[in-house]
Amino acid sequence: MSDCGACTGETNVKLCHDHTTRIEQDLAEVDNVIANLRVSIARQDKGAQSVGGGGPSGSKPPLSLDALDKYEQLREVLTGWAIQLEGRTYLILVKTEDVASYLFSRIEKVRLAEWAYELLDELGEAMEAARRATDRAADKISAGRCPTVINGERCPDEVTAIVGQTHARCRTCGATVDIHDRQQQLLADAWHVRAPLPQILRALKQGKHATLPMTRVEWWVKKGQLVPVEGNLYTAAAVMHAYWQTPSGRKVAPNNLDDMGRKAS
Ligand SMILES: [Zn+2]
Ligand SMILES: [Zn+2]
Repeated sequence: MSDCGACTGETNVKLCHDHTTRIEQDLAEVDNVIANLRVSIARQDKGAQSVGGGGPSGSKPPLSLDALDKYEQLREVLTGWAIQLEGRTYLILVKTEDVASYLFSRIEKVRLAEWAYELLDELGEAMEAARRATDRAADKISAGRCPTVINGERCPDEVTAIVGQTHARCRTCGATVDIHDRQQQLLADAWHVRAPLPQILRALKQGKHATLPMTRVEWWVKKGQLVPVEGNLYTAAAVMHAYWQTPSGRKVAPNNLDDMGRKAS
């Protein structure tokens, strides 16, 4: 047994299970991320300069040039390590998405490499930069305030992610946040808060937990499937529980519904 290259976890290869999974997740997302980058790059071909700079100052290069740059960076990381793995130099001519698949299918071999943790780092950074360079701002979701505590001070940044992304990196402290876990936790934290229905529905929608039309939720109230805690005040927990009992809600209900319920009561 030896230490994982990226943490203190013990492993008989060079990368622990969790960090190997992280590489796999990034590799699996390469297709998506590149598709988004292509949208941004293509926009530059059409609209050119009018696509605009990175801010009102205009001091930054246009977003789409940035996207091209990030695409090349990602490609470089992937082909560089892929060639390193088995010396197959022809990979330089292979589509970037296919290079990612190549590495994915040889993940057990990657884990044995002394440089596995370097790939983990470089790929994580390149993917993060690529995601940020895409201009699909509408697809951004918040994972709330960064949970990192340094010297007793909570990191002030808000962590954002692109829909479909499993992990996000905090821009201030670099901590990696598991989006799903974090959102479940945020929901659990807000479990007890009493608020009028419109406010709860807005919060659930913004947090990408569920988009529930007011009329639908009012119907649950009418049928007695959802009851206020007092007056016209409800909790997010009660609303989500009512939702999870419906046919469409059942599909997205957490497996540990009992645990969540216990937190709520
Ligand atoms: Zn590790
Ligand atoms: Zn942070």
